Amino acid sequence: MIIVLFGKPGAGKGTQAPLLAKELDVPTLATGDVLRAAKRAGTKLGLEAKGFMDRGDLVPDSVILGILGEELSQPQYVKGVILDGAVRTVPQAEGLRQMLASLGRKLDVVLAFDIDNDEIARRLSDRTVCERCQTPYTGRKVGDVCDKCGGALMRRKDDDPDAIRTRLRVYDEETAPVLEWYRAHGDRVVIVNAVGAVHDITTSALAGLEK
Ligand SMILES: [Zn+2]
Repeated sequence: MIIVLFGKPGAGKGTQAPLLAKELDVPTLATGDVLRAAKRAGTKLGLEAKGFMDRGDLVPDSVILGILGEELSQPQYVKGVILDGAVRTVPQAEGLRQMLASLGRKLDVVLAFDIDNDEIARRLSDRTVCERCQTPYTGRKVGDVCDKCGGALMRRKDDDPDAIRTRLRVYDEETAPVLEWYRAHGDRVVIVNAVGAVHDITTSALAGLEK
């Protein structure tokens, strides 16, 4: 079973991915992790990606898809995989389809976590991080003391409410058409309400997949 997780930044994909993986008994594959691993391992595509990153450029889709494809050819993904962060734009959706086809495989379902922008802004603005050791916290105030090192907690620049709204606007423009693209191509799209307790969201995601 090949599942693509889809949803706004802050929708909880990263939290749900390992929980769903455990229930479905398939590994997860987060694009950012694979990219960093390929860079560390010094594979041909990994070095190519490194070149772009070192210059401060975005790594092109073709390089990212190549790295994902090499990873997906490994035996641990024979049963399936949960892809996190693989598709944010229509060209990436097209690229992923071609890459999977070249491996003789096919996407089974797009699992989209649905949450409105106000809720995400509220969630993300509740996040702080230790300025010294970078430990993340939720539900703590700016200026509180870090449990680990005694440093002060600060808000990440990315989590500033204005920055969040800009990110969500970019998301709406770039990524909302992706679900339409999948539907137009006859792919199965399951929408899950991503507001509520973590366990309840996992349960409704699994129920949606079983239908
Ligand atoms: Zn700390």
